[in-house]
Amino acid sequence: DVKRDPKIQVARLKLPILGEEQRIMELINENETLIVAGETGSGKTTQIPQFLYEAGYAEQQMVAVTEPRRVATVAMASRVAHELGLTSKEVSYLMRFEGNVTKDTRIKFMTDGVLLKEVQSDFLLSKYSVVIIDEAHERSVYTDILLGLLSRIVPLRRKRGTPLRLIVMSATLRVEDFTENTRLFKTPPPVINIESRQFPVTVHFNKRTYSDYLKEAYKKTVKIHTRLPEGGILIFVTGQQEVRYLVRKLKSSFPYKKDVNYSKIIQKQKTLEYDPVLDSEPDDIDSNDDEVEKEMKRARKARMKAKKKIKELPKINLDDYDLPADDGQVDLLENDDSDGNLDSDSDEEMSPLEPAIRACRQPLWALPLYSMLSSDRQSRVFKTPPIGARLCVVSTDVAETSLTIPGIKYVVDTGKKKMRLYDHATGASAWRIVWTSQASAEQRSGRAGRTSAGHAYRLYSSAVFQHDCPPQHPPDVQRRPVDDLVLMMKCVGIDKVVNFPFPTSPDRIQLRLAEKRLQVLGILEKAELKKLRAQDEEVLRVTPLGRAVSAFPLLPRYGKMLALSHQHGLLHYAITLVAALSVQEVLNGKSESWPATGNMLLLGDAGVLLRAVGACDHAHKNGEEEIFCAKYGLREKAIVEIRKLRKQLTSEICLSVAGVEPPIEELKPLDDNQARLLRQLLLSGLGDQVARKIGLDEVKEGEDKRKFKYAYHCAELEEPVHLHSDSILRKVIPEWIVYQELYETGAETRRKMVMRNVTAIEPEWLPVYVPN
Ligand code: ADP
Ligand code: MG
Repeated sequence: DVKRDPKIQVARLKLPILGEEQRIMELINENETLIVAGETGSGKTTQIPQFLYEAGYAEQQMVAVTEPRRVATVAMASRVAHELGLTSKEVSYLMRFEGNVTKDTRIKFMTDGVLLKEVQSDFLLSKYSVVIIDEAHERSVYTDILLGLLSRIVPLRRKRGTPLRLIVMSATLRVEDFTENTRLFKTPPPVINIESRQFPVTVHFNKRTYSDYLKEAYKKTVKIHTRLPEGGILIFVTGQQEVRYLVRKLKSSFPYKKDVNYSKIIQKQKTLEYDPVLDSEPDDIDSNDDEVEKEMKRARKARMKAKKKIKELPKINLDDYDLPADDGQVDLLENDDSDGNLDSDSDEEMSPLEPAIRACRQPLWALPLYSMLSSDRQSRVFKTPPIGARLCVVSTDVAETSLTIPGIKYVVDTGKKKMRLYDHATGASAWRIVWTSQASAEQRSGRAGRTSAGHAYRLYSSAVFQHDCPPQHPPDVQRRPVDDLVLMMKCVGIDKVVNFPFPTSPDRIQLRLAEKRLQVLGILEKAELKKLRAQDEEVLRVTPLGRAVSAFPLLPRYGKMLALSHQHGLLHYAITLVAALSVQEVLNGKSESWPATGNMLLLGDAGVLLRAVGACDHAHKNGEEEIFCAKYGLREKAIVEIRKLRKQLTSEICLSVAGVEPPIEELKPLDDNQARLLRQLLLSGLGDQVARKIGLDEVKEGEDKRKFKYAYHCAELEEPVHLHSDSILRKVIPEWIVYQELYETGAETRRKMVMRNVTAIEPEWLPVYVPN
């Protein structure tokens, strides 16, 4: 009873997955879990929910589809609704802060984080008959945890007599992590591979790797557009700003003008110069690489052939044209505000391209694609460009596997992507531009071969590909700090983190240690179990404090400091302190420039950091930061980094903690009482890293007492640990301290363990702040 638009029907029939409908449905009917691996664009996301709908799976309960990316969640829900001839009432989406689910919803697209939240209130997911985990190869932390949970929920639902189907959909990557992991699925689930017509794609590496990859992307695109035959171009860059910049630049070089009849332009001319290597950069570095070598030979041959052809055939004069005078450029797509960093187009290096740009009369239909783009703007990439114009999509990695753009023949790959990297010490994270994995590079290249043979231009050398691009990036669960992961899982109600069936597990010893640490910090506590379990089984659950801590984008110990710092207006100091503690080597040595007394002195290295940052704020305001840093032995780069982190943390935290005013820009000096409170705050987060001075009477007979002048006992190690030689607390040598980190110094014979960033605490605070 589904009434599809005939046009949709025709488009669907071209998808390879349609021929597999019967086989897929048989496998789903007969198995609780099914893995669907298929080339990007084969129709997994748009078609399988429709198969299920037509087979009646959405009648009594809903079909859930999870996506790791928000952009895909919205786009796919609206596409499936459209194909089924339904509305957003029946095929809906739900993500954090946004959604259109109704009581009539039959197919529900959602972000993986949202389904994980739903597991908390309804562990059996009883609203759903089928859960589809899409884009499982992306290995987002939520997807991985969901897979582990679902591997247990599915058998439970069977026992209840209300079976749940699980479909794991993935690009053809890393499927073994799901199938060969017996902890996850005791009996490996069947895998169906969706073969799809993939045309050959010739990969071209750059000979050299330039750091200005945007400029390279622009140049390569100009060459493709002015010299190579018809076919869409897809450019991969790292973020929204880059996308918008490049779209603007390309549009101004090859504008689309209304009232011009572009159909008069004969595109065939370009085949005359057809040389896919684009003359400049054949790669000849890796002569030991057979594949590349072969590729090179083929390319050279093609080039020779093409050159010959050019001589033989007459050329069409591209300028032999009459254009109506009109400069009204159609700009329906982007009326974005300029971000002011647009390179001047008179850029010297561009000039060799200028004649080609001027000679080319064909417009480039340049469209942006990134997550935050509104959905109707996003959907433009799926529409045929105006007659005579060439489609060119500038995208972030959402076009890698999440969204398939039709008609792409050329891929321009900068080889870069943005990735969330975590600071090891504090867990603060930042988006950094990194090399993509080799697997991603292959995925990106593959986008050029959907409709016909294509070309992929990698704007870096094959040496970079081999040495700097990892085969795959490790999954998120292995990259984020374990303390953070453990707390997140406990908040979802997962008791057994150590034995959790991860698709790829983090180190289990590390998980256990993290659990202990969080217990000491009062973030987890022993659960009062109603049912008695085996004696050795101890269940740790999240405390109310732990829930608050989890809202902070930091390691739980620092999250705890911040969660407590709303008291006495300490939030801004705490944020600054965390930022300063996550940057290494702020001071080049001496703390003499930062004398202090009383609680300020006892605040120790943390106090020095705060005073230094505060003083820099002041100097910064007066435009004297550089001189100031040089004078007082501060590393300027570190200071700049700290300021960046403070800003980032402030905006992240003020968004997530309601009712908190954004803190003032300049850091005011602390008074004695505030310094004392900060010492307590530091202890609250570092309570498992307390150390006590070793008394000289404790030093064994025959040992050199001088070696113990700054020596402490700590819980982590048997051997003594020492105050850092630059620590301001050497002046005091307090009885009790907390430290941020231990590290090893000295050559082999004189090696010793040293404490970084030390603060004095009062023994009477200990029982209060450190639960046993
Ligand atoms: P997969 O999930 O296997 O990567 P999809 O189901 O996303 O594949 O895509 C199948 C086809 O549907 C692709 O050719 C894609 O271009 C097309 N498609 C997806 N969304 C839209 C849309 N909004 N408009 C037009 N075509 C679309
Ligand atoms: Mg898909």
